[in-house]
Amino acid sequence: MTRVLVTGGAAGIGRRIAERFLDTGARVAICDADPVAVDQMKSSHANVLAETVDVTDEAGMDAFLSRVEAEFGGIDVVCANAGTGGPAGRIEDLDYEAWQDCVAVNLHGAFLTCRWAARVMRKQKQGLITITSSTSGQWGHPYRSPYASAKWALIGLTKTLAMELGPVGVRVNAICPGAVEGDRMERVLEREAQAGGRDKEEVRAQYVQGVSMRTWVTADDIADSVLFLASPAASKISGQVLAVDGHTETNAP
Ligand code: NAD
Repeated sequence: MTRVLVTGGAAGIGRRIAERFLDTGARVAICDADPVAVDQMKSSHANVLAETVDVTDEAGMDAFLSRVEAEFGGIDVVCANAGTGGPAGRIEDLDYEAWQDCVAVNLHGAFLTCRWAARVMRKQKQGLITITSSTSGQWGHPYRSPYASAKWALIGLTKTLAMELGPVGVRVNAICPGAVEGDRMERVLEREAQAGGRDKEEVRAQYVQGVSMRTWVTADDIADSVLFLASPAASKISGQVLAVDGHTETNAP
């Protein structure tokens, strides 16, 4: 039975990844910083090991991850997915604390998750890590400098871990979602519209216009790509940056 861990797994993309693995009969653990969402996840899926943990809390993560290792006896797929959009604004207006929070959740949280995954998977000599970056990690993103910076850093982490862990049979790949339909993007649109002094619908149209396929994507599109990477069809795919975005042409406003 495949054993899966998803961070930020109680809502949005992470929840869909977790649910799609559950559909395949996998054993699934999730953590999330939102206790209400964790409770909802537990009541919808009694068989999920779910805990309220902030991915930037080293002691909390270590305790949770030790529990996962003890109860699952190892781990096959780890999705370092938790992230936050961070503040929107011109860099000269950004608050240092908001910058640090955004980088911490997106990057430091992935470090704590991947450090544990590497320790366990190196012993097992097998495993898959997926790191949720963003098309903002392949392009610059005006008014979202902390987010874009952290997501670019995750590509560096992916490439480096693929090199460190490839010799022992562990694969590491980054997934770069485009704009995903849902509450999170609605909040992002509002913040970007406010930061740029523009109308929210104008910002939405700009996102679609910058994509060759003139579309947003869904959480299921992202979950599909993780399931593909976890399948035998992807057994030699590592160190890759997989954009699931309808092909982004520009993030420029
Ligand atoms: P979401 O806000 O719907 O869900 C994210 C989940 O992560 C939430 O349940 C939230 O509580 C949790 N979370 C936030 N901070 C956390 C922390 N410190 N510790 C633990 N959990 C935390 O967002 P989403 O769209 O599902 O985003 C998932 C990932 O995909 C993120 O890394 C995000 O940056 C990335 N992404 C999203 C989009 C998009 O358009 N939605 C696009 C590109 C990349």
